[in-house]
Amino acid sequence: MIRQDLRQTSGVIFRIQKYSIHDGPGIRTTVFFKGCPLECWWCHNPESISPGLERAKPDEARGSVEPANWFAREVSVDQVLMEVEQDRIFYEESGGGVTLSGGEPLMQPEFSLALATACAERDLHVTLDTSGHGSGNLLGQLLKQVDLVLFDLKFADTARHKQYTGRENDRILNNLHRVDAQDTPYRIRFPVIPGITDTPASLDGIGSRLAGLQRKPEIDLLPYHSSAEAKYKRLGLEYRLQGLQPPSLQHLEAISARFRQYGLRTTGGQP
Ligand code: SF4
Repeated sequence: MIRQDLRQTSGVIFRIQKYSIHDGPGIRTTVFFKGCPLECWWCHNPESISPGLERAKPDEARGSVEPANWFAREVSVDQVLMEVEQDRIFYEESGGGVTLSGGEPLMQPEFSLALATACAERDLHVTLDTSGHGSGNLLGQLLKQVDLVLFDLKFADTARHKQYTGRENDRILNNLHRVDAQDTPYRIRFPVIPGITDTPASLDGIGSRLAGLQRKPEIDLLPYHSSAEAKYKRLGLEYRLQGLQPPSLQHLEAISARFRQYGLRTTGGQP
């Protein structure tokens, strides 16, 4: 049985999404952690970046802030488990489970470890969706509790990583090698942001980096779309990709072909 103090461990999340089908196998419940060390220009969850409790700008038309506009809440492991357990039948029928996402789960070490441990002890399939920017020791401990890692990789090049995410990527690349050296299954998630992550040099940088890994992970292509733009407005944040168009299917196929030259397989990629 998981220790009582772990069950009472609390963290800050901004959403629990049920019936999720894009965050790992089967039907899943995704727990979105609040706080991320990166600030990707294309982030679909800009409300996740700041670590604290915060709320949307008042709706100027209505002149008030509804409680539903709060972007975060503090929850204990027990409270999350109560919501997660409601859908156990769907996980069992679909091969699904729970996904720790964000934001960045590695930013809340005690909470992410306690939640992953609690889920694992209940025989729930656990997926960790991470940017890889966090403590290597914590990641090592989490790898023992989770069944799958979705590892986001944006750039192999440090300068471009810093330009478009605000942080260098040395820690991320070290953690990528750490994951590759363990047994836990993992996949790469590569955001296709036209003109930014998909230049020939960027693709070759990612391709040669992944080809050098022992396990040569599969890559999930995540095509850019602009659906988060309205959220930026609500948060009073600048949206730096205004007018950018999603990649075409043909372009995504060309990216897959380029990665295949490095012996890498891709999935996804429907614009
Ligand atoms: S790593 Fe993910 S959550 Fe963090 S800023 Fe980038 S896209 Fe957003």
